[in-house]
Amino acid sequence: AETTKSVIGLVGLAVMGQNLALNVAEKGFPISVYNRSGEKTDAAVARAAKEGVADRLHGYKDVGEFVASLERPRRVIILVKAGAPVDATIAELSKYMEPGDIIVDGGNEWYENTERRQALMKEKGIFHIGMGVSGGEEGARNGPAMMPGGDAEAYKFLQPIVEKVAAQTDDGACVTYIGTGGSGNYVKMVHNGIEYGDMQLIAEAYDVLKVVGGLTNQELEAVFTEWNKSELESFLVEITASIFKKKDELADGFLIDKVLDKTGMKGTGKWTIQQAAELSVAAPTMEAALDSRFLSGLKEERVAAEAAYAKIGVPAPAAPAALSDAEKQQLVADVRAALYASKVCSYAQGYNIIRAKSLEQGWDIDLGGLARIWKGGCIIRAGFLDRIKQAYQRNPALPNLLVDPEFAKDLAERQAAWRRVVQLAVGAGIGVPGMTSSLSYFDTYRRGRLPANLVQAQRDFFGSHTYERTDGKEGWFHTVWDPTF
Ligand code: NAP
Repeated sequence: AETTKSVIGLVGLAVMGQNLALNVAEKGFPISVYNRSGEKTDAAVARAAKEGVADRLHGYKDVGEFVASLERPRRVIILVKAGAPVDATIAELSKYMEPGDIIVDGGNEWYENTERRQALMKEKGIFHIGMGVSGGEEGARNGPAMMPGGDAEAYKFLQPIVEKVAAQTDDGACVTYIGTGGSGNYVKMVHNGIEYGDMQLIAEAYDVLKVVGGLTNQELEAVFTEWNKSELESFLVEITASIFKKKDELADGFLIDKVLDKTGMKGTGKWTIQQAAELSVAAPTMEAALDSRFLSGLKEERVAAEAAYAKIGVPAPAAPAALSDAEKQQLVADVRAALYASKVCSYAQGYNIIRAKSLEQGWDIDLGGLARIWKGGCIIRAGFLDRIKQAYQRNPALPNLLVDPEFAKDLAERQAAWRRVVQLAVGAGIGVPGMTSSLSYFDTYRRGRLPANLVQAQRDFFGSHTYERTDGKEGWFHTVWDPTF
């Protein structure tokens, strides 16, 4: 039995929990840990010994003893599977917790579940914080980005700990109070949607370079390594470079060429798109990324369709005649521009989802601050996020990143190359849904006049939905467009 109490507790010792607990211990905070099944507790304690923090990590197999081991107000982070397991864990914990104590759910939870629990816990005087955690296993161990939402006073008890545990950048720790309610889970959800978009756009860049440009894996590695020193500098571009150099250990060649083209998913990307629709916010790039995951799953259907079309004279996309070095260089430069421009559009969409929700819920989320904490620790970390931070600092009411003067300049400089890449891909029969959606988003958003006049006229024609006029005549008009209908 310890004479001094732990500063914090953690429940759920799978990948995320075990690594985060070790991180907390390493940063100097005595921590108590608990897991439903005892083996994971033993594993965490054994690993703490191996990593030199055994004196600061204490394993418990009884919830009551675990809770009793914590100093008050008690702080307990839970990292169990989202949904019912979180309810079960809270039910157990709250038997022993007391008014003023704080539960922090670090899982990928649906924000409304967090708000339901906040209301439930409030009856007991217990605070419940929904805190998105990003960075995967490595981030949890060495410094993740964290997005806490809920009671601001309760967060103050958490702040000194999470600020040390989070990833550190030259712009501060990658954690900040997001807002009340389920705002922390919400921004983590959109973070994941943005992550889907980034990954899809990178995959499309790869496809164009490989199939149209005929680049080898070595050349791709060199290109992505170079890009990682440019405006595209980011964790995902960095790991992509590294993926291209990995040799297959089970056979000859590179591993990437052996990986089945079927993408898995867990749901936060889908939630993001559902939210975009609920809020009437256009999010075509992230939506294209989600659709691409759905279509990737239809491997057998795609293989059959390719064969069927080849038979009637529509062959699979193939590389054109080998490009000259100069042509290759031009293509690489164009794809780099197209990737960056497309990415700006994707982030614009993600930030607009958060902005719309924040307005709807009164969360008052600081979008610049959110860009700052995503600069490190998380999967979408990138130098580029500093530019987003600056854009919202210049104008906190910015309606869209596309009209920030700096981003507008970036897009204007790249639009010719961006169009060349999309045209090239379309011509070669290679779908680039993310880049195409981004370009269409840009071309639609920046255009004062759209063909929506015709859609509204049709609506008025068949449904008397009325229309407004462009010539300053005020009010809503209905016309009998053709009395024969
Ligand atoms: P996980 O596989 O999502 O969950 C496993 C943990 O949940 C185990 O501790 C398990 O306990 C516990 N659990 C499952 N059902 C339970 C129940 N009915 N009652 C009590 N405990 C139950 O673990 P994870 O991958 O570490 O993720 C934890 C959370 O972080 C999830 O919300 C996940 O979405 C999120 N997240 C994960 C990552 C990642 O890279 N993995 C990144 C960011 C966020 P037992 O050992 O007893 O089964």
